[in-house]
Amino acid sequence: MIPIAKPQLDEAEIEAVNEVLRSGIIAEGPRVAEFEQEFADYTGTEYAVAVNSGTAALHAALLAHGIGKGDEVITSSFSFIATANSVLFTGAKPVFADIRPDTFNLDPQLIEDKITPATKAIMPVHLYGQSADMGSIVDIAEDHDLILIEDACQAHGASYKGKKVGSFGTGAFSFYPTKNMTTSEGGIITTNNKEVADRARMIRAHGSKQRYLHEMLGYNLRMTDISAAIGMVQLKRLPSYIEARQRNAKILTDKLQDIEGIECPTVSESCEHVFHQYTIRTKNRDQLADYLKEKEIGSGIYYPIPIHRQPYYKELGYNDNLLVTEKVSREVLSLPVHPAVTGDDITTISNAIKQWSDAKC
Ligand SMILES: *Cc1c(COP(=O)(O)O)cnc(C)c1O
Repeated sequence: MIPIAKPQLDEAEIEAVNEVLRSGIIAEGPRVAEFEQEFADYTGTEYAVAVNSGTAALHAALLAHGIGKGDEVITSSFSFIATANSVLFTGAKPVFADIRPDTFNLDPQLIEDKITPATKAIMPVHLYGQSADMGSIVDIAEDHDLILIEDACQAHGASYKGKKVGSFGTGAFSFYPTKNMTTSEGGIITTNNKEVADRARMIRAHGSKQRYLHEMLGYNLRMTDISAAIGMVQLKRLPSYIEARQRNAKILTDKLQDIEGIECPTVSESCEHVFHQYTIRTKNRDQLADYLKEKEIGSGIYYPIPIHRQPYYKELGYNDNLLVTEKVSREVLSLPVHPAVTGDDITTISNAIKQWSDAKC
């Protein structure tokens, strides 16, 4: 089986974890601080605050910006549930704008229609490892005096016009094992705003700067030194992981682009796409996924049900018509491009898709 995702872990991670265990400091300690500095440097931001998941990073980022009850946050429904749930956690309301059919990211032209007096923030998702249209989105946020929070959980190292995602506003990244780099579970907030960083640090530790003095409501969102030690090894390798993903994506596109009924991913001119997912579109998506499975090729559907169509969101009264989101959720299929995918694997995958397509004609 060629799996759709595979974390790259070897002796370096094992040694790093052993070293932490031997040190006896296994919760948040010096390695978390070191990892934060390295991640901030990598994304080109002043501050980074490590937490224990991407969901926690989104949640703490929203809270650190003071978002809460009565506020609206404009975001994408074509994302993992955590994007919108993090808004609900704060008491604010996620408002969904539709996406572009080519990049699957928020359509800037549709964001402005959703702005009301209650809008407090825009939260673009850099889906599959490609930056949203940050030029236009930054302009809209500035024109309407809105906070910008980037769901960069799938986009470590991605950039827009040479500037890394997570540095346009306040960024939230995930280090879940399937992402482009991992800490096991984990996440991080990036920002150039010192007050936001300071508040995020308090929110992750029960609202305290000083032990047992609680100035605000917070949570336990701390990352452990065990996770940070893994993260530091992974961060050093991230550029080579990204190169491998980009190389695999390029070969796949070369082989798939002329196949009838298959639409390859669009890389926007302004973006460096880091291919967290390599996602094609096809009308008979479920049939192709089954065919690939028979051939022992893993694939993934991200995401089969848009957030506004989830049972819980229906219960909350969501009833949007997001035509592009709904259409692409029926057509997308992600194929393996992670660093462990070999040239032979790519040939196997592309040959299987060609056979499937030929058999249909
Ligand atoms: C993975 C992911 C998250 C949540 O990250 P966790 O670490 O799983 O909590 C949020 N948003 C997007 C777009 C993601 O892909």
